[in-house]
Amino acid sequence: MEFRDLKEQYRRHRAGIDAAIQKVLMQTDFINGSAVRQLEQQLAVYTGVRHCISCANGTDALQLALMVWDIGGGDAVFVPDFTFFSSGEVVPTVGAVPIFVDIDADTFNMSPESLETAIQYVIKQTDLQPRVIIAVDLFGQPADFVRIRQIADKYNLLILEDAAQGFGGSIGNRKACSFGDISTTSFFPAKPLGCYGDGGAVFTDNDTWAELIRSYKVHGKGEDKYDNVRIGMNSRLDTLQAAVLMEKLAFFDEEVELCSQAADAYTRRLQDLVKIPIVKENMVSSWAQYTICLKSSEQRKSIMNAFSAEGIPCAIYYKKPMHLQRAFEEYPNELKYEMTENVCERCLSLPMHPYLTKEDIDKVCDKVRNALRVGV
Ligand SMILES: *Cc1c(COP(=O)(O)O)cnc(C)c1O
Repeated sequence: MEFRDLKEQYRRHRAGIDAAIQKVLMQTDFINGSAVRQLEQQLAVYTGVRHCISCANGTDALQLALMVWDIGGGDAVFVPDFTFFSSGEVVPTVGAVPIFVDIDADTFNMSPESLETAIQYVIKQTDLQPRVIIAVDLFGQPADFVRIRQIADKYNLLILEDAAQGFGGSIGNRKACSFGDISTTSFFPAKPLGCYGDGGAVFTDNDTWAELIRSYKVHGKGEDKYDNVRIGMNSRLDTLQAAVLMEKLAFFDEEVELCSQAADAYTRRLQDLVKIPIVKENMVSSWAQYTICLKSSEQRKSIMNAFSAEGIPCAIYYKKPMHLQRAFEEYPNELKYEMTENVCERCLSLPMHPYLTKEDIDKVCDKVRNALRVGV
């Protein structure tokens, strides 16, 4: 059993993917080839956002957004305390200060109440200027953008949606990558829409910002790459990755649906045993992860031991809250992070991908059940 089965995906779609790669090899347009622009157009249509600008990875995508908004020294950026390191890392990269925000234990996403507390703290107790909320669509479910947007409006803040794990999710009829003033995603192989290397994209409806992103990602270009009007970076999605992504986008919705069936099957079998992930009404998750919470870290350990004996893969996303990462030790961390600390001790992500069989799911759930029975 695979944690995320990219081998089976390739086996099923090999002819199309091989042909797409061959085509790029024959054209040798490896950088900025035709597939890159085509993919950007398809992703803009898919997400319902005016502009999609591809780049080298999801971390660069976040950084590009902060650069375009001129975020830097003296600015505070709000980031969930429970996420992958990148969501917070890009803040000091541009010279700003990350303020970590506790999560909602049902969805693992940023808690709107804790967000407002954190904003009040920055206003009253620091000299920082609150500027941006980085809201992460963790494990595939969009953050609570209805309430986060109300808070952003109240305090005049920008929203940066980190949909690295959220691509394919939705709220009502709106897709992930459309909820931020700028939104980003990652095409790292294990993400919901993954390529065969690194890749990322930035989304926005704002024409001015879109043009600035196109400049920043190509060495701050003016009229062309050799006319440089600002300090930028070199952040490209290469043509081979774009060609692979277009092939995969064609069957992406089908894969999200299969993941959601697998998630339902897990939930049916596990809901009376462990704390299962909750997808809120009106929301669709793209199920980047299916993450359960146990009663204690000891219980988690016994399940991991049982899995290990049977060769069942699993992972702890995430073991350490952002505010306890050594890299962030110089930043404010006096707010409360009870939910995050609690979840870090008890969470466990189970195998999740479109090609899990009923037997795989039964096996995982049986092992959880047995491990818990032995444990009590
Ligand atoms: C993977 C991930 C990123 C970074 O994406 P890369 O393409 O690896 O740079 C950012 N944020 C979150 C929440 C992620 O899961």
